[in-house]
Amino acid sequence: MALKNYQINTILREYDNRLFQSKHDLELRRKEVYEKIPALDELDRKIVSGSIRSAKLSLAGDDSLLSTLKEENQKLSEQKKQLLVANGYAADYLEPHYVCPDCKDTGYIGTEKCHCFKQAIVDLLYAQSNVKDIIAHENFSTFSLAYYPDNFVEESTGMTPLANIRRVVQETMNFIRNFDTSYQNLLIYGNTGVGKTFLSNCIAKALLDSAHTVIYLTAFQLFDILEKYKFTNNNNNEYDDIQNQFEHILDCDLLIVDDIGTELSNSFTNSQLYQCINERHLKQKSTVISTNLSFDQLKANYSERIFSRITSNYTLLKIVGNDIRIEKQFM
Ligand SMILES: [Zn+2]
Repeated sequence: MALKNYQINTILREYDNRLFQSKHDLELRRKEVYEKIPALDELDRKIVSGSIRSAKLSLAGDDSLLSTLKEENQKLSEQKKQLLVANGYAADYLEPHYVCPDCKDTGYIGTEKCHCFKQAIVDLLYAQSNVKDIIAHENFSTFSLAYYPDNFVEESTGMTPLANIRRVVQETMNFIRNFDTSYQNLLIYGNTGVGKTFLSNCIAKALLDSAHTVIYLTAFQLFDILEKYKFTNNNNNEYDDIQNQFEHILDCDLLIVDDIGTELSNSFTNSQLYQCINERHLKQKSTVISTNLSFDQLKANYSERIFSRITSNYTLLKIVGNDIRIEKQFM
């Protein structure tokens, strides 16, 4: 399902902005640095005159000096970097800084869409920009073990909450590390406020950072899309968007569904959820689901086939601990 023109244009405009911004920033950095280190000007002049000589020689068919000139220019560029570092700047301070170095913020690698373009489509379709704000501060670098007590053994896991969360984080890290080579799904479950959503955010950030397409939906949002997909007919304005949304839910590298059990489920949503989980399973695309529900409640809320799909194809990660949201108020 192709995107509409205005959607493509929205994304391309964002790329234009990025390129403009990085050019502008580079210009500012250049100005600052050249004022501080006048010797850079002299090196630039030498580099330019070297390049002109090379061009003239090769036009004249004389290749004998080309490699020497090339070496000289490389040395001069190296000297520029050394000058920058000696003055307290990063060696690449005068290089453009791209949001996506893989495609240099063009959105394409050759004729193929870059992973960042694919993610931009997903972000646009699901209005996911809020997720980016959240994962900027909820990620592995800010994940705190301090909320998990170590002074009692929790019955269901046979471990202290701290020992348990260490194991869960380790499992999650393995999931991320092996994401491209082994197909795995996670069910993160436990009471309210023990850090399930935080952990899902950590996973989302890690996989977005390693160039994967990630769709993050609350159960409520997912069911809303599944329902619209079923009931919106093709003369409705939203039809194409919903088809697109549905397609990407089945196709994205990672689908995260937060908090299943909070939506109103019925036999219709049940079968839609099964279709979604099952299709992704057949395509060997990973899914992460989090829930407050216990196993018994999961079984009661969803059909037998959903329950058995999940228990047989998902790594079950139980998080235990006190309610972090309450705890934070006292820390
Ligand atoms: Zn890119």
